[in-house]
Order: sequence, then C-alpha cells, then structure tokens
Amino acid sequence: MAESKRYYYEVLGVEKNAGDDEIKKAYRVLAKKYHPDMNPDDAAAAEKFKEASEAYAVLSDPEKRRQYDQYGHAAFDGQSGFGGFDFSGMDFTDMFGDLFSDFFGGGRRASRGGSSRGANIRTSVRITFMESITGCEKELDLNLKDPCPACKGSGAKPGTSPTTCPKCNGKGQTVFTSQSFFGMVRNVQSCPDCSGSGKIIKEKCADCRGTGYISSRKTVTVIIPQGIDSGQSVRIREKGEPGTGGGARGDLLVEVIVSGHPTFERHNYDIYSTVPISYAVAALGGSIVIDTVDGKVIYDVKAGTATGTRVRLRSKGVPSIQDKNVRGDHYVTLVTQTPERLTKEAKELLRQFDAITGDSLNEAKRVQEAEKKSEDGSSSSSKKKKFWSK
Ligand SMILES: [Zn+2]
Ligand SMILES: [Zn+2]
Repeated sequence: MAESKRYYYEVLGVEKNAGDDEIKKAYRVLAKKYHPDMNPDDAAAAEKFKEASEAYAVLSDPEKRRQYDQYGHAAFDGQSGFGGFDFSGMDFTDMFGDLFSDFFGGGRRASRGGSSRGANIRTSVRITFMESITGCEKELDLNLKDPCPACKGSGAKPGTSPTTCPKCNGKGQTVFTSQSFFGMVRNVQSCPDCSGSGKIIKEKCADCRGTGYISSRKTVTVIIPQGIDSGQSVRIREKGEPGTGGGARGDLLVEVIVSGHPTFERHNYDIYSTVPISYAVAALGGSIVIDTVDGKVIYDVKAGTATGTRVRLRSKGVPSIQDKNVRGDHYVTLVTQTPERLTKEAKELLRQFDAITGDSLNEAKRVQEAEKKSEDGSSSSSKKKKFWSK
C-alpha cells in the first residue's frame, strides 16, 4: 500500500524543489546502476530499478508531479481497478527508450520467450465538473485490434502455417555484446528478420495482410470514480493492444480532463466559491442561500459580517477518490453588494439612515466649512504658525 512506499524525492535522492535537469541526472545515475541488463538475475537491483523508474515517471512529468506533490502516492494508487496510474507490469525500459538509447546502444529490450504483453493504449475523455464530483460512466469509441478470425492471429494464409525463423531459431531475439563507456554491454535486440515473432510467414493471410490482427470500432465503457481530478487516469485492464504468442492484452489508460465550472473552483479536495450578500444581511445578519455541489443550503450570516469574510461548509467539498464518505470542505467568500439602482424612496431612506449613523454624506462639507472658519478669523502669520507648529 501507499504507506510502505518510499517518497519519490527520497528514492531519487533529490530535494523537493529539484529542477527537471537535476531529476533526470539523478535518475540516470540510478538507472545505470540498477538496469536489468547490467544486473542479470538480480531481483534486488530489478526492484531498485523499478522504484527509481516509477519515481522518475512521475517527477519528470509536470502534471503528474503536481498531483504527487498534492496527494502523495494516493494520486497514483490503483484502487479497485481504477484511479491514477498503476505501475505494475509496465515496461520502463520501453517507456524511457530515448533516455536509454545513448548509453544502451539504442537496443530496446526484445520480448522474451516469444510471448509478450500487448502495448498499453492511451486516450482521454472530457467530463463536467459535476461528473467529477459524482463519478460517471462514459462510452468511448475506439479502434481496437483483435486476432484475425480467418488465420486465428497467425497471419499465415488459412491452411498454411508460419515457419520458424532461421536467423533467431524462433527465439525472436538476437544477442550481441558491445563496448560502451562503462564496460561491456550485453545487448538483446528484436530479431530483424521476423520482428521478434520468431516466425516467418511465407503466404500471408488475405484478411489481415499477414498482421494477424483486425481493427474494428468498439465501444468501451469507462467507469470514472467520484472525486477524480483533471489529469488523473483510469486504467481499464486488457483493453489495450493484443499480446503476441499468447501474451496478455495491454491496458487502456484513459486520462480524464475535467471542465471548469462557472461557480465552483477546486483545490485539492476543497471547493471554493463566492456568494454576494446584501448590505442589510451583512449588517443585521440573516439567512442566505448558498449553492453547493449537493444543492442549495441555507446559511446564517452573523450580524456585522465584513465583506470578504470566508465561511466553511464542512464536508461539502470533493469526495475522496478512495472513499466517497470522506470529503473536503467548501469555502465560501461572502461579498457585500453595493446597490446600483435605487428608487427615490430607497434613496431617501438611505439618506435618513446615514444622517443618524454618522452623517457620512456630509463629512466633506463639514471639513471644508471648518477650514473656512479658521481662515476667516486668523491672519497670514497664524496660518504660518500653524504650519510650523508640527
Ligand atoms: Zn488473418
Ligand atoms: Zn527471427
């Protein structure tokens, strides 16, 4: 579970505010040290490599890093089949092909034993703010590959069968060693003659042109959990590319993009909004109606509330992606409204109100009159004195 995992910054040995270059550099050092090709049959090294790669996958991606900084490992925990990224079964050597190419001679790891898991497919779906609060189901139309029914996925013309590749003897990969700047490297490459399948097709199946797969438009339903934040992904197992040689299908990763809302704004699991209140309610106190994601609620404003006062509606925020009963709060900023159009009667009442509460409408006039009085009854010298008396 998340608690037992090491902090990603600690894994890479960098500070929390480390720059992209620093993160990349730290990862390269660890990756070189623990890469499976450098440490064959060393489970501990493989584990370290995976840990470092996972940390790098998150921290090198600005959006994922932001989510990690906010939610920690919970941002990427696969809970009951969805929610964030699940790193198990992901081939990091493929993910970082470009990063490794310069020190691993460009050789990607080929599939072993002729069977390999299919690639993951990535897609995205846009949902509304309210759908992200309640959770929703979306149907996605995707082109998915399936094994060709005519040749049952072999790619060979029905009635014929593929033959073993003579170059790799059916292994699907070729091995060579090369010198690199840090020693001899054992490179494993996909066999160029059979593209790693270990088989050569002499007569191709007409239906699939020898690929063994047929693409078709399919509708896939994705269940999006409540509380999902924009940029998080839902994993649908085995809806990716088909595997080869009996390998499992890859997964479908659906990135969720949440549209903005005219009233509500989300930060972590809290919601923020602004509600106008009248001067009378601000001064005298009174009940107001506040829109929340649960609908309207009545809130009692205290007498003498200043404009800009922020009130908290407990547990009216975003539900946790793991447990819908755990929720953030809703913070409401109360802003006193200034009336712009008043009737004659309202204006007159406001003047009367002002006259008995400090007479602010006549304040400037009073100050001017007082100045004039002191000028009339004094010479220019006393004016000077007044100036110097400070
Ligand atoms: Zn076929
Ligand atoms: Zn071959």
